[in-house]
Amino acid sequence: MTTHRLYLDEQALVTHDAQVLAVEGNRLALDHSAFYPGGGGQPADQGWLTLPSGERIAVIGIEAEGDRLWRLCGQPLPSTLRGGRVTAKVDAERRVSLSRYHTALHILNAIVMRQFDGWITGAQMQTDYARIDFKLDRLTPELVAAVEHAANAVIATNHPIRARYLPLDEYEARPELRRTLDVAPPLRDGRVRIVEIEGFDAQACGGTHAAATGELGALAIVKTENKGRSNKRMYVRLGLTVCSQ
Ligand SMILES: [Zn+2]
Repeated sequence: MTTHRLYLDEQALVTHDAQVLAVEGNRLALDHSAFYPGGGGQPADQGWLTLPSGERIAVIGIEAEGDRLWRLCGQPLPSTLRGGRVTAKVDAERRVSLSRYHTALHILNAIVMRQFDGWITGAQMQTDYARIDFKLDRLTPELVAAVEHAANAVIATNHPIRARYLPLDEYEARPELRRTLDVAPPLRDGRVRIVEIEGFDAQACGGTHAAATGELGALAIVKTENKGRSNKRMYVRLGLTVCSQ
């Protein structure tokens, strides 16, 4: 039995009831999940489960096994939970931070691709910073300043963000939706999920994002690193106030 992934279409949903499909030691599978399972450089969501007894236990990670998502809990679980219902709650503050940084990396990768022809070679999001690697030969202070300036203009315009789906053949006919050479697109039921920053960019992605670019606040590229002849890394931090360019 599979886990229906609520986070793909109901990103604001953080609390929901679900049926327990299976219990194995300290892990448990539900029929529905609002928890992002991790991927594309975005860590899995964490949160809590409330059992029928009222006991609240921590969810510290997610394991994807085919179409089933297992929650990894901080303690062993009673097998009697199987077939019953629990309430699941995502750590919303952590999710919002990760979604803001994830969205920032979309903006950066669109700008670097358009202006400097740089493909993504890696990305990692945390709750207080993110890093992104590009296939670029050079990373000059002028390039970094230009990217940062362009990103803040996109944030200040407060573009809405939405997800939709394209059949695989339509996706394959639109190479501009692809930003990485190494990772297959997020495919569900023969369709590819597309995340669109309206009026700015669209790209294939299975992660969680802000609802509009203005939620990010001012963006700063705080550090760069040379990770090889044609691999360059940027470290990004977001402010708490909306940029006023
Ligand atoms: Zn994304």
